[in-house]
Amino acid sequence: MTDLLAAPVEMPAFEHVPQPYRGPSREEVLAMRKQYVNPAVFTLYRDPLMIVEGKMQYVFDETGRRYLDMFAGIVTVSCGHCHPRVVQAVRQQVETLQHATTIYLHPNLPQLARKLASKMPEGLDVTYFVNSGSEANDLAITMARLFTGNNDVIAVRNAYHGGSPTAMGLTSHHTWKYPTQVNAGVHHTMCPDPYRSSLDGTPDEIARRSADDIRETIRYATPGRIAAFISEPIQGVGGATRGDATYLREAYRITREHGGLCIADEVQTGFGRTGENYWGFQNSGVVPDIVTMAKGLGNGVPMAAVTTTREIAEKLAQRIHFNTFGGNPVAMAAGLAVLDVIDDEGLQENARVIGGRLLAGLRELQERHPLIGDVRGMGLMLGVEMVKDRETRAPAKEETAEVLEACREMGVLIGKGGLDGNVLRIKPPMCITAADADFALDVLDRAFSRVGG
Ligand code: PMP
Repeated sequence: MTDLLAAPVEMPAFEHVPQPYRGPSREEVLAMRKQYVNPAVFTLYRDPLMIVEGKMQYVFDETGRRYLDMFAGIVTVSCGHCHPRVVQAVRQQVETLQHATTIYLHPNLPQLARKLASKMPEGLDVTYFVNSGSEANDLAITMARLFTGNNDVIAVRNAYHGGSPTAMGLTSHHTWKYPTQVNAGVHHTMCPDPYRSSLDGTPDEIARRSADDIRETIRYATPGRIAAFISEPIQGVGGATRGDATYLREAYRITREHGGLCIADEVQTGFGRTGENYWGFQNSGVVPDIVTMAKGLGNGVPMAAVTTTREIAEKLAQRIHFNTFGGNPVAMAAGLAVLDVIDDEGLQENARVIGGRLLAGLRELQERHPLIGDVRGMGLMLGVEMVKDRETRAPAKEETAEVLEACREMGVLIGKGGLDGNVLRIKPPMCITAADADFALDVLDRAFSRVGG
């Protein structure tokens, strides 16, 4: 260990040279943020990091220092920062037509809708484009309520579905919501996370019994019928938690027995990130009625979408429903390029291979570092849960923050999550290489040694 700590940490070579930064200084930016920006807009590190350029799996600060981005701008950059094909598609569209609204025809919108349909199970073939994941989930809930005629919705504890009033109601972290009337008609069911569940048993048993709680919730909380069950196939903000594959199968069955629609929030798990499949729900062998997506669809361009069946979608056409920027040609050009790049560059397969390498490396670190309580996830959607004590599983919140700081110092950006802020979230752009993965593991090893002793 001592030898290892003494060896230099070397980031893989990368040929991109960042442009000299000539904007306001970091201190000026920080001062402006403090004075003019709503204080709710927070930064991650103790000493906030300024990022002024990005290229594929790397970002650069104002001094030109390079960092390996293992968090992809919160799982938003799917195929790489400023991927040349996405940049080219956006540039070409910006120079031609930036906006005209969906009340006129433009080829990009139906082309992207058609492309998304080609990626979905049969029947999920009509899409409504919006601007953010929160909006997508709002719209999905509206559609489910319209279609079923029911009001109540079941969401999973420890879920994050966004910051708009409806999405905040679906979210179940007390840290992420306000005590306004956002919960009307929403009930939270047990999270099937095998590591934190209060139930004993194998992951499969925990999944089945957690799913039973949906039936119980419906029995007590509503007149026996619901509009929808919504869940993330792997919880993102919640810390990469995932129930056994049985969970969604059972949850969907119970939901449908009670007249509800099944909504998959693929905002983080979509577009091949989980490696084995293009969509996270496919890892459980289920087919949702509505799929919401955002983030990775635009590779940084703000856009989101709700894909469902024609039958469900038609309910929304009873009145006028309009979204000014949803489906605008620039975002659509980005989305089309992103989906092509993911296919052409084999990024789903890369997520599977490099994700497997990272997962194996993290499990190996777990053997040596008592701070690591659990390692989980799939593909490039991984979580490392840190505990003060493996027996009590007491969350190691401060240590997690320290590991994050140490990684940043060594040139690796990682996210954190979980209800107690004690889970490292590792979700890099899907173009990450084996050398990057090894570098990140090396840095994490050193960070754990430093923080855990
Ligand atoms: N759903 C999930 C699973 C998310 O992770 C997020 C964002 N972290 C959202 C919805 C909300 O997306 P947005 O911030 O674009 O509104």
